[in-house]
Amino acid sequence: MADEPRYRSMREMIVETGLEMIEQELTKGTGGNASARTDDGNVVISPSGVPYDEIPPSEVPVVSLDGERIAGDLPPSSETPMHTAVYAGREDVGAVIHTHSPYASTFASLREPIPASSYLIAYAGHEVPVAGYAPPGSEELANGALDALSEATNACLLANHGVLAVGEGVRDAFENALIVEHCARIHYQASAIGDPVVLTDEEVDELIAGFAEYRSQ
Ligand SMILES: [Zn+2]
Repeated sequence: MADEPRYRSMREMIVETGLEMIEQELTKGTGGNASARTDDGNVVISPSGVPYDEIPPSEVPVVSLDGERIAGDLPPSSETPMHTAVYAGREDVGAVIHTHSPYASTFASLREPIPASSYLIAYAGHEVPVAGYAPPGSEELANGALDALSEATNACLLANHGVLAVGEGVRDAFENALIVEHCARIHYQASAIGDPVVLTDEEVDELIAGFAEYRSQ
């Protein structure tokens, strides 16, 4: 399959994001995946089953919203249906990151949302909700994740599995994935030694409004 130079910088970004996911301990081995929406409405996505430090950027797959590979020699991530479902359902989303970060995955196994015990949760929404269990790579998982990601939510947990974080760009989605892990860790630690105080809906609304203003500056 011919290399498509127009996707070069986005492919490099996907490779770098994968390496950063490992570095920040958001996933291990070949787990997790990252994608970004291209200017022409397609999706650049991590390949399936290749260690992040062995991915040649020119071989990173590009798929259509139907999941059909249109460029890149490597097969796309097995979670491609989850990524394309989010792009199809949320026009505001330009990038999607899926991780297996340990503290957030702990809450995913409890099937418990991460509540607003840290103010940083406001980047993700009022809480990080849980999408019901479905096998990895399935359409059912894709639909469940999209349902959990309402308009005002930038991340959800995937029951017994991991995390899905979205954003306007790859940096935003990656930051949201880091924030989810941080909030999960803080809630876990606070619960281990006491009874964490959860911010009220009004308090979180105020934070969300403040963050929106900060980002628009
Ligand atoms: Zn996964």
